[in-house]
Amino acid sequence: MTSYADFYRRSIDEPDAFWAEQAKLIDWQRPFTRVCNYDNPPFVHWFEGGKTNLCHNAVDRHLKDRPDQAALIYVSTETGLEKTYSFAELHREVQRMAASLQALGVQKGDRVLIYMPMVAEAAFAMLACARLGAIHCVVFGGFASGSLASRIDDATPKVVVSADAGSRGGKIVPYKQLLDEAIRLSSHKPQAVLLTDRALAPMTMVAGRDHLWSALRAAHIDAQVPCEWLDSTDISYTIYTSGTTGKPKGVQRDTGGYAVALAASMTHIFDGRAGETYFSTSDIGWVVGHSYIIYGPLIAGMATLMYEGLPTQGLDKQADGGIWWRLVEKYKVTAMFSAPTAVRVLKKQDPALLKKYDLSSLRALFLAGEPLDEPTARWISEGLNVPIIDNYWQTETGWPLLTVANGVEQTPSKFGSPGIPMYGYRVKLLHESTGEELTQPNEKGVVVLEGPTPPGFMQTVWKDDARFVNTYWKTVPGKMVYSTFDWGIRDEDGYYFILGRTDDVINVAGHRLGTREIEESISGHAGVAEVAVVGVADSLKGQVAMAFVVPKDGSVLGDSAAALKLESEIMKRVDGDLGALARPSRVRFVSLLPKTRSGKLLRRAIQAVCEGREAGDLTTLDDPAALQQIRDRVQAG
Ligand code: AMP
Repeated sequence: MTSYADFYRRSIDEPDAFWAEQAKLIDWQRPFTRVCNYDNPPFVHWFEGGKTNLCHNAVDRHLKDRPDQAALIYVSTETGLEKTYSFAELHREVQRMAASLQALGVQKGDRVLIYMPMVAEAAFAMLACARLGAIHCVVFGGFASGSLASRIDDATPKVVVSADAGSRGGKIVPYKQLLDEAIRLSSHKPQAVLLTDRALAPMTMVAGRDHLWSALRAAHIDAQVPCEWLDSTDISYTIYTSGTTGKPKGVQRDTGGYAVALAASMTHIFDGRAGETYFSTSDIGWVVGHSYIIYGPLIAGMATLMYEGLPTQGLDKQADGGIWWRLVEKYKVTAMFSAPTAVRVLKKQDPALLKKYDLSSLRALFLAGEPLDEPTARWISEGLNVPIIDNYWQTETGWPLLTVANGVEQTPSKFGSPGIPMYGYRVKLLHESTGEELTQPNEKGVVVLEGPTPPGFMQTVWKDDARFVNTYWKTVPGKMVYSTFDWGIRDEDGYYFILGRTDDVINVAGHRLGTREIEESISGHAGVAEVAVVGVADSLKGQVAMAFVVPKDGSVLGDSAAALKLESEIMKRVDGDLGALARPSRVRFVSLLPKTRSGKLLRRAIQAVCEGREAGDLTTLDDPAALQQIRDRVQAG
């Protein structure tokens, strides 16, 4: 057996040979002629000349050996629906969806925006797009009309696929209404909307534009739609993510490189084997949902469990803190993927629930999306008695960048560390201001990657190569390196520890949000003169947003009823623009904000004060009274 060190070294020293070998894990309709084209850094083209298709690799190629094996297991504790689709059934549903999209005019290269709750039709839609060579753009269902409208304008989709509603803890989220409002706000108007009716909320159909999936499905019940063979470098999808500016970036991914990266990660990192069951508790609106609910497990010939609902409610809609473990037992889940926040929620449940079920099928629990704190890691590790594998990555990378590759060699994990660099990633730590590489253990620096980035990594920012280069690759003077915008240290054994973001991105329950987006929404309120939003540590969600607002009408400061009213209006506004996820936990009113003499907001000082820490270097602070006011407000509770 190869050691991981040798495996890693080969991926860096002989990338062409290494990745050509990994590329054998998927089917190619036409072999590639060049493994890695890095002629124009930082852009990388993987497997040029090759033709393949993600849907073929996820579905069709399994029809020969495992047509009747479970492919998609759908469980909703919100509606009580539990249904398994074999690979043959999934193949049929995907073709019906592909034919329906074609009937609505979708062709190769067209964008299809998917705004859906966790329903099987969302998986059919993603796979159908991949089948046709259409570019899917899944927008997280927790986002509200304002966020959705800006994504519609950026992606300019020909068709939107949606549903009447989602449900969370029994609360109905009216997707169709939110979508109608978003289309009203957007400049680009999609030519058709395809809707799944779950009978959860009324839908007002727009004549000529809106179509029911049930009708189109019936019309295409026997449809046979072949896979469109795509160039390896053709775009498979875009997914939006937040950064320093208020405008989300469309992270763009290729086809062949992504398929190879996922297939390789299923073998080397997730140790996923064909015929077994994979359960990721994420949502299709996030990158984890793309890589490890839909494509990764299916490419590996595994059944994937798609779950709608809270981790604490059963199929009978009664409280059940053991529902996930019940599903692990029932479907013999071998690999499970979740987020630390979900485990912190479960930690509040009866610990006996972990012992109530036969969890012997489970080989590992993978956790990602936010820092994994030691008490949470220990609790779940002792409860499950399987390795807990922290893994660090980003929407941009598409698959883990730091973790352990137990499929290559059993490697111990360290509490608090996601692990070591994965094959293909040239990870470095750079000094914040000088850009010098930090080579000594335990020095804090910015985590960066040297090119070429591995297969599966983002190709560029959708329609904006300049933004891709300027945002990610030009943060260190004189060096072209990709910045993760995370602080990190590396210990003497080569294990990395992630110490938080270097930019204004916050992480709420594993979900990434830009404080600037929240600030822009709040500034839109007529009563707001100025605003600062910071992320503050929270024992359950990791971080929550907190807003400090300078009201236009100073009398709000001394009038608690007026302050409460304004706070509630501001929260409603954020709910409507961005969604409840982005809603600040508190809005506090102040007469001025702490800024530098040049007018730059001192967000980090505000954050430190909110968390009861020292505010750090304040030499640039213009007016100390501003920070004192924040301190007073926070202490007042
Ligand atoms: P996203 O693109 O939404 O997946 O967010 C990526 C960001 O989440 C990273 O840049 C980190 O700040 C954080 N993150 C993801 N996984 C981890 C992890 N395992 N440990 C610490 N932070 C993480």
